[in-house]
Amino acid sequence: MSVKNLVEELKKISENFKNQLLNSFTQYSFERYYRRRYETKYKLIDLLKSLGIENCEVIHVSELIKCKQQCIFEEHYIKTPEDYAKYCFRVSMIFGDAIEREVIDLMKLPKGYITFKKIEVGSKTYVIVGSCDAIFEDYVIEIKARTKFEQDRVFPTPLQIAQTKLYAWLYNKQYGLLILVHPNDVNVIVEKAYTDNEVRDLILTWSSPRYPFECIYCTFKDICKQRQMQVLITDY
Ligand code: SF4
Repeated sequence: MSVKNLVEELKKISENFKNQLLNSFTQYSFERYYRRRYETKYKLIDLLKSLGIENCEVIHVSELIKCKQQCIFEEHYIKTPEDYAKYCFRVSMIFGDAIEREVIDLMKLPKGYITFKKIEVGSKTYVIVGSCDAIFEDYVIEIKARTKFEQDRVFPTPLQIAQTKLYAWLYNKQYGLLILVHPNDVNVIVEKAYTDNEVRDLILTWSSPRYPFECIYCTFKDICKQRQMQVLITDY
């Protein structure tokens, strides 16, 4: 084989390997973060229907803490791992996931199970569903990681704090532990569970966006009529 052909061949192999790796990452992340979330939600909706409970709205924790319109876009546009790769997937999600698994394994933590809880808001019933990362004694655990390249971003974000507080409420715990893994350090923040009234407030204030900074990183910003770009990027 000539040197030129060998170089071409090696280029092809590395390109194929890279594509396979990215496809595997995307497929894994799609299953882990997306398909499971909606499967859980739709199964619960079906279960409630089969029990004759129809007049209620089921919301996943990961939806309620963020922009409402973004959830609507995600449900509408993302059906396959390819759609997910186009709209949601970032390689940094794999870092986060790997750190989460390591923390759970090293600390021998039981993983969070799927659970749901009913709450009345005015005349309407809502059911909040989700599963936290892990449980430690009487605390729910949420694990978040930040790479070296994300050091300019606020950490934890208000979303991550709200998620921890909401999971603590969902699991009927008083507190949640938010484990923050930085490139050179680890912080553990204790967050008090939301009260029922705070969860009602979260439902009533579910807006698009919930936090203005969400629009800056939102993959749907070009088609969204509700985006708020007036926030200074340097704020987040
Ligand atoms: S651009 Fe902003 S308001 Fe629109 S979906 Fe994204 S986060 Fe929500």
